[in-house]
Amino acid sequence: MNKLIDKYGRQITYLRLAVTDRCNLRCKYCMPAEGIKIVPRKELLSYKEIYRITRALTELGVNKIRLTGGEPFVRKDFMQLLEMLSYNDLLKKINITTNGALVKHNIPKLEELNINTINLSIDSLKPERFFEITRRNNFHDVFDTLNLLEKSKINLKLNIVVQPGVNTDEIGDFVALSQERNLSVRFIEEMPFNGTGQRTIDEVWNYNRILEEIRKSHPEFEILDHEKSSTSKNFKLPDSTGNFGIIPAYTRTICHDCNRVRITATGMIKNCLFDDGVFNLKEVLNKDISNEDLKDLFLEIIPQKPKNGFVAEENRRKNPNVSESMSTIGG
Ligand code: SF4
Repeated sequence: MNKLIDKYGRQITYLRLAVTDRCNLRCKYCMPAEGIKIVPRKELLSYKEIYRITRALTELGVNKIRLTGGEPFVRKDFMQLLEMLSYNDLLKKINITTNGALVKHNIPKLEELNINTINLSIDSLKPERFFEITRRNNFHDVFDTLNLLEKSKINLKLNIVVQPGVNTDEIGDFVALSQERNLSVRFIEEMPFNGTGQRTIDEVWNYNRILEEIRKSHPEFEILDHEKSSTSKNFKLPDSTGNFGIIPAYTRTICHDCNRVRITATGMIKNCLFDDGVFNLKEVLNKDISNEDLKDLFLEIIPQKPKNGFVAEENRRKNPNVSESMSTIGG
């Protein structure tokens, strides 16, 4: 089997694929209140195209996929896509990132489809602050989803974007959740992918600052072994059921063993979160490219992955400033 290995010796085994740029929430760190200019439906990858792309990549050693958005569950028949992908025997793990507002009634079927992990985006445990951040009133649907997923056989991770001046006072509360609950708390550094660009932040809440804050409320915890290519540095409270971790997504100290390639909802390949797209697959899919040619294309493009996110940002050409909404990338 040919493999996707870049010039730094990193093997690409993990596909993060966005199924839509649409979302039912309006999180302040992701998009403006009026939302973003969404693409015409015909420009989105079809489920058949997503299946073909995934199959070709799995024949090149990719064994894990994360489906993201926008919000994947707003796309019609998303559950059917999951069913299609579950027939790909080369896929070892199917994971989903969701805001959880449209999930709870799908959980039995998600278990049946052996979805491995669901990352639930929830930035506050307070309904009024949840509304302040998301500009939507879905707190109770999301919290119901949290409770139901925790009881399910699906691994549950909570994604919390740490927003200076907004939710930093809840860091200790989220860590405390991992004491009794069967879940993994993941704090993510805020990034400028918010549809308008870098917001003026008085205090920088990076990995070290978040860890410092955790120590204030939870001075005792153990450092867990770092899994190869994991995006988060993980920890565990004494005798706890769950664990917590920090993803240094903006300080980019995790690039040395990055195993990820992204494909946006419109088919743009991103070799790094911080690049501005390297090749649009729609162009060749529309011309009925063969599976072998599609694999050759991946073998040509993906090994050109930049050394790290800083180099990727420097090399941006189409849109020099990192400002596009995360809803157009998929996270
Ligand atoms: S910034 Fe780019 S290279 Fe670094 S971990 Fe993220 S995707 Fe990988």
